[in-house]
Amino acid sequence: MKLDQGHLVISLDFELFWGVFDVRTLESYKSQLEKVSEIVPRLLQLSDTYNIKLTFATVGFLLAKNKEELLQYSPKKKPNYSDANFSPYRLFDAIGNNETEDPYHYATSLVEQIKQNDNHEIGSHTFCHYYCNEVGQTAEQFEADLLATINIAKQQDINIKSIVFPRNQINEVYIKICAKHGILSYRGIENHWMYNTNDTKQLGNTKHRIYRLLDAYLNISGHNTHDLQMHHGLVNIASSRFLRPYSSKLRFLENLKINRIKKGMTYAAKQKQVYHFWWHPHNFGQNTEENFKALEELFNHYKTLNKTYNFNSKTMTNLVQYF
Ligand SMILES: [Zn+2]
Repeated sequence: MKLDQGHLVISLDFELFWGVFDVRTLESYKSQLEKVSEIVPRLLQLSDTYNIKLTFATVGFLLAKNKEELLQYSPKKKPNYSDANFSPYRLFDAIGNNETEDPYHYATSLVEQIKQNDNHEIGSHTFCHYYCNEVGQTAEQFEADLLATINIAKQQDINIKSIVFPRNQINEVYIKICAKHGILSYRGIENHWMYNTNDTKQLGNTKHRIYRLLDAYLNISGHNTHDLQMHHGLVNIASSRFLRPYSSKLRFLENLKINRIKKGMTYAAKQKQVYHFWWHPHNFGQNTEENFKALEELFNHYKTLNKTYNFNSKTMTNLVQYF
């Protein structure tokens, strides 16, 4: 559908260690994850200053107050991946009992801050950081996972209406399952081969990685702005760009990266389309000041576009409810 003004959508994949448990060790990631407790309130504050709305696509495990609740809400049908490494349930014996004991696997106080703030949205990043295109898991298992996240959220008065699929693995059948359970929108991928997540192995190959790195600085894949499209009953609010964290090695390219995003936002504002960028709160866990400085520059650009073109900031659900 064609929009009558441009919109900025920002989503954050909020997951703590549950987002990287299969690729990193906790020891190697602890210092970055510890900073998330400062980063989330700072993000809320900065966004409110610029009247910008955030959507926190939250892993359902993070909504559990303690281990008892985590076990209580965990579905009976768990993802049966051929590669057992993908299952986070194998970590349950090793994790602490609650957020105070173990801030790497629980986040009740941060979720509460987002909820109390009331300007932003808490959406889903599935219950267990579910990989929708990995071999072995089934539609039935995905549905059980989705219901677990809807239920644990409901008991905290959170109504889950949007979803971001982990590792951006999008499964056509699962979109229909989401629609059946009242989800209104999801974050699709950029319309370019280098971002294609259908073949999970290809995404990690060197050629794709190099192209994606270059594309952060140079316009290779285009601006990736979008009109909204209904897909199997959900609105696809497709990604325009991953906000790469500040890199001290590539700091001389930082301006190129930010300017690339600004140009995309301007294009969306003029064309009355959506610009959707995203990252993870823990990405700001290193080089925190540089990352916040870059984000504020983007927020300032938004302010200008808002005045000039009536470019508007919306959460994922606000954007689709508006129609
Ligand atoms: Zn994730």
